[in-house]
Amino acid sequence: MAKTAITPTRADDYPEWYQQVIKAADLAENSDVRGCMVIKPWGWGIWENIQRVLDGMFKDTGHENAYFPLFIPLSFLQKEADHVEGFAKECAVVTHHRLQPDANGKLQPASPLEEPLIVRPTSETIIGAMYAKWVQSYRDLPILINQWANVVRWEMRTRLFLRTTEFLWQEGHTAHATEAEAREETMKMLDVYADFAENYMAMPVIKGEKTAGERFPGAVATYSIEAMMQDRKALQAGTSHFLGQNFSKAQGIKFQDQNGTEQLAWTTSWGVSTRLIGGLIMTHSDDDGLVLPPKLAPKHIVLLPIYRNDEEKAAVLPYVQSLKKELEAQLFAETKIRVHIDDRDIRGGDKVWYHIKRGVPLRAEIGPKDIAKNGVFLARRDTGEKAGVERSELVATIAARLQAIQDNLFQKALKMREENTRTIDNLDELLAWFTPKNEKDPEIHGGYALCHFTENKEVDALLKQHKLTIRNMPLGLEDVPGKCIFTGQPTSKRAIIAKSY
Ligand code: AMP
Repeated sequence: MAKTAITPTRADDYPEWYQQVIKAADLAENSDVRGCMVIKPWGWGIWENIQRVLDGMFKDTGHENAYFPLFIPLSFLQKEADHVEGFAKECAVVTHHRLQPDANGKLQPASPLEEPLIVRPTSETIIGAMYAKWVQSYRDLPILINQWANVVRWEMRTRLFLRTTEFLWQEGHTAHATEAEAREETMKMLDVYADFAENYMAMPVIKGEKTAGERFPGAVATYSIEAMMQDRKALQAGTSHFLGQNFSKAQGIKFQDQNGTEQLAWTTSWGVSTRLIGGLIMTHSDDDGLVLPPKLAPKHIVLLPIYRNDEEKAAVLPYVQSLKKELEAQLFAETKIRVHIDDRDIRGGDKVWYHIKRGVPLRAEIGPKDIAKNGVFLARRDTGEKAGVERSELVATIAARLQAIQDNLFQKALKMREENTRTIDNLDELLAWFTPKNEKDPEIHGGYALCHFTENKEVDALLKQHKLTIRNMPLGLEDVPGKCIFTGQPTSKRAIIAKSY
């Protein structure tokens, strides 16, 4: 068996492999606070790139950033009945505002708040309350605001990046004069997310509408992008909600239209979170650790100077430093090439593995022999290919090489999804596909099943029993008539059924 940098391998124990990849790449760690993680510099570097790119996309589509409070008065959350019901179980509640020593000198919460405050699980209500003040006339619309923030949802089972109690995200909140405009915004932002997922994360996604049971609490329609991980489970990677007039009714976001008639605004919200990093890890990484799409990698290339004595060092270091400058003058995906020189005094082999495990797209080893040939010894993280490359050629082709890695990662992920997606027209076939015959059954089971279905409680219960979920109803596939695989009723609704995170 080939030795791998990560144990266990994906085939042996996928969930544990995921944890070990994060550890080996030094992305994040569990903290002393249950379910809350510490994002370490390499993980944060990925998040910064995600933020930078998405922020640019939001601004290009006419949005501005603003910031709203961390706390939401309980009464605000209660104004929208479905909303509070949906989030009640996950709310962290602040009830006191002071600590005071008790008889034993132990600090205890002292002064109760008149009204409990909820640590925001999402900000529709606190933001809507401000929009109600800002909007009077149709001239005040649309409002197109995004917030970068942390939120808290008291999750029972947590996993680094994928589901944490506190997580970082962006939440867009928009208000419009007409339903058509708000619906257009909802779909526009879903497209922005799909574009980001596919062209920056190299992660193919399926856009679709969620079923009523999976809708955001308080929304009229929820749309998601769903990605397939390497264990063939689905990951909801982003959501865009058409909120109708539910929140504007609850909060009084009203305006005078052109005829002077009072109208309720139409609102939307949309968000992606640090979960995207979990998706990135599970889409591309291998048994040697993290593999990063170049567009989001904190460093594109690491230069590893190799020398045995001071004399060699004196020749190698200036060569490496000037190469760094030359590379940095090149552009890839509208940013300058991100170059790191690793000149730490550790064994060469360890150093190479350190960067393999962290997923740096390109590695260049540079010693006296390479300099004699005016070149570098270049290795590609995604394919493992290695070859000597002339210095000037490396500089001239660095952007194309990074793009080739980016494209290869996307194509590989797309192929994996296509190979594991089936159209299934009957229930027995569906269940058989997701059920191994026995523990040692070598056949690959499950993936995305595209099925006709009708939405009802019995169907939900049956799916739950088999640990299956309806991911979404893919856009563009809505109008093909067929029969519900559960009830036999005629229907044109089709959904992706899969196991999921
Ligand atoms: P929502 O507001 O529920 O539509 O969620 C917005 C985004 O945050 C979606 O992309 C979710 O996948 C993601 N998300 C929801 N809960 C968590 C969590 N506990 N940890 C990380 N991301 C989450």
